[in-house]
Amino acid sequence: MRIVLRSNPLIEFPDLTVHCDGNKGDINFMSHAHSDHVFARAKNVLSSEQTLALASERFKRFAIEHYQKEDARFSLLDNGHVLGSKALLVKHDKRVLYTSDFTLKSRNFLKGFRPPKAEVLIIESTFGKPHYEFPDFNAVMREARDRIDDELKKGKHVSLIGYALGKAQHLMQLAGTFGAVSVEKGIGAINDVYRKQGVMLPEHVDLGSRESEVSVIPNPRFAQKKSVTLGFSGWAADGYYAMSRGVNDAFMVSDHADFYELVKTVKKVSPEKVFVWHGFSEEFAAFLRVEGFDAVALQKNQHMLANFH
Ligand SMILES: [Zn+2]
Ligand SMILES: [Zn+2]
Repeated sequence: MRIVLRSNPLIEFPDLTVHCDGNKGDINFMSHAHSDHVFARAKNVLSSEQTLALASERFKRFAIEHYQKEDARFSLLDNGHVLGSKALLVKHDKRVLYTSDFTLKSRNFLKGFRPPKAEVLIIESTFGKPHYEFPDFNAVMREARDRIDDELKKGKHVSLIGYALGKAQHLMQLAGTFGAVSVEKGIGAINDVYRKQGVMLPEHVDLGSRESEVSVIPNPRFAQKKSVTLGFSGWAADGYYAMSRGVNDAFMVSDHADFYELVKTVKKVSPEKVFVWHGFSEEFAAFLRVEGFDAVALQKNQHMLANFH
């Protein structure tokens, strides 16, 4: 078998190709509904029901031609990233695990990823450098809650900033403890899909509503005048994040694994071969080689043999 990077990894067995977050395979796996993972007009799409619902809401032209049912060759595993997100385990002479964007941390209504054993691992490395070490999720959220409380007591309006699908719904849980939450439209639409899928979220109202003192928005440009803006991102590990993002303060909260979760995952999977993709792939692959793993960073259009016959 071999692996090729075609936007995202394409697994090629002699008699079967599986595109991980792409549309060029016999089977096309869609791990979750973030834009770089969704391909319109894909055939034989393997995905979760929640991801299909979210993709249809977000991308008006999204249509799949054929839905592939999970069968003995494939397992879709919760990977903790956003609602409905899955890792893929392909069982075809060798076990190949594709993590997609993932985290081991359980947060609110999401269970963290529990990696299975596999001979070949394709792992993301968005935060594949050692200074990306994220503190405990609940501890950071408590800190954020205290900060919001302080600002509200000073009579300030507060805006919480995180991307619309995934981060914003955790921020809804946080904001909901302070009463009505006003949200940007796109976030409101995604909240509705989450609710339809059985996730309990606090009620939201439109931005600018007077009854609300806390907003959840995807970008500081949606903040109302004089609102205190708080960003939530793994990139907050970089000291300059708040300044570069144009927010008053930032909290280190991510839907991705930090460096130490990535390392832990590789050890748990205990693969013979590791392909690293996304973010700091060269750096992370180099680290894994020092640790004794046979690891390479996936390069665009370069064919990588997994050395199996
Ligand atoms: Zn993602
Ligand atoms: Zn991604």
